[in-house]
Amino acid sequence: MSCDFLALAQPGVQKLSPYVPGKPVDELARELDLDPATIVKLASNENPLGPSPKALEAIRGELAELTRYPDGNGFTLKSRLAARYGVQAQQVTLGNGSNDILELVARAYLAPGLNAVFSEHAFAVYPIATQAVGAQGKVVPAKDFGHDLDAMLAAIDANTRVLFIANPNNPTGTWFGPQALGDFLARVPEHVLVVLDEAYIEYAEGDELPDGLDYLAEHPNLLVSRTFSKAYGLAALRVGYAISSAQIADVLNRVRQPFNVNSLALAAACAALDDSDYLARSRQVNDAGMAQLEAGCRALGLGWIPSKGNFIAIDFARDTAAINQALLREGVIVRPVAGYGMPNYLRVSIGLPEENARFLEALARVLGA
Ligand SMILES: *Cc1c(COP(=O)(O)O)cnc(C)c1O
Repeated sequence: MSCDFLALAQPGVQKLSPYVPGKPVDELARELDLDPATIVKLASNENPLGPSPKALEAIRGELAELTRYPDGNGFTLKSRLAARYGVQAQQVTLGNGSNDILELVARAYLAPGLNAVFSEHAFAVYPIATQAVGAQGKVVPAKDFGHDLDAMLAAIDANTRVLFIANPNNPTGTWFGPQALGDFLARVPEHVLVVLDEAYIEYAEGDELPDGLDYLAEHPNLLVSRTFSKAYGLAALRVGYAISSAQIADVLNRVRQPFNVNSLALAAACAALDDSDYLARSRQVNDAGMAQLEAGCRALGLGWIPSKGNFIAIDFARDTAAINQALLREGVIVRPVAGYGMPNYLRVSIGLPEENARFLEALARVLGA
């Protein structure tokens, strides 16, 4: 008789469902015998521009050193980030994607008997990171698909150590403004670490969205997490970072893998950070694509949740599983979000103008419009 190694896993892990990523282009090509070049993938909030040429050049410069371990302290990238944002390098934590940052927080601050508070329809990694360390996730019902910050405050108890909020949130695209964040932080108990996930902050313009870094000085229990995967276009390299108090950064540094960010990622992130033209183009393409998709939805009589990210959750007012399958047969990959409690929605990442048009044409055919 062999042992049941599922039953032997810690209880939090037994109850976990694995993260479901957007379907890779090659997988759909294999399944439906399609030419990968004809497939449009708008499923993982990736930057449609391709990587910054400066990042590619930096990567090429690193290739000869691949036999060496990377700089485990990420000195150069931390220094650049610190200079860019006016903080000390000791306040910066680097991650293998910002996903890594979320896990470092969970490993350092959560344990069985403790809990993390996050919202319904929030990023799927929050429950995974929480349960993986045996802690409890307290899910707070959303308000109009966005975070209900008052209800999240009310959910905090003596065993709460972490509160995850995303601004804007994925997959809803919902956001809160500076006033709401300020009022919220002022009321969070000092012992609760607020993880403010700003994976899409670079897309925000004007002052509709708060810059989390502005709140660090006043709130030592705040950690701002960001990534090079979205607006900086480096998702495959896996590099993200957190800015927090130096003390929290020191704690996270104790639990991370010694070489959690690889040398190509370090070099590319430094180069991407300096490529302001690329970032400006990312924003332009995103703004134009958002307008294109909104107009397309309007023409098809579909609703959507207004979004400040590089994606939009479209409301089909009925279960979308069949619509998603039909889109796949059209060679268009979008993201079902039933797993996020939104079975009537599909999340569509903003692509290049021609990719957005391909999606809208396919959708019109699928809906018989
Ligand atoms: C994409 C995303 C991340 C970051 O992903 P990484 O690639 O691991 O940096 C973090 N939070 C949210 C809400 C996201 O959508």
